[in-house]
Amino acid sequence: MTRAFVRNPKILDGRWTVDGTSIAVAQIRADLERMSRADVMRCYRFMELTEAEIDRVAAFPFEPIRDLTLTSTFTSVTVNCLCGEDTPVVIMETKHVAQCICGRDWNLTATVLIVPATDRDETRA
Ligand SMILES: [Zn+2]
Repeated sequence: MTRAFVRNPKILDGRWTVDGTSIAVAQIRADLERMSRADVMRCYRFMELTEAEIDRVAAFPFEPIRDLTLTSTFTSVTVNCLCGEDTPVVIMETKHVAQCICGRDWNLTATVLIVPATDRDETRA
């Protein structure tokens, strides 16, 4: 028996899972990258993961299912002020004012650019 890989918004926020389980396909894939196939089989024995399912996990394309976005709960930086003092700052919003002990204020704007990286298979070869 080879179970389908499905997405259900009520299970793991809609991540791909093995049908009838709450096991993420991505978790099995990550385990395949860091453990031997035999160890993965042992780890997932409880859910009766089959060799065919492991093959499908390894080849799963993870096709796009949503727009690319970025979320961040906070960004941490240190302002190395002209005066020689360092001010650690946790940026909770896009804009933040860092106040150095010397009296200088620095407007910080957090910007992150997302750029596709070189194909992973090429970099690993
Ligand atoms: Zn300063």
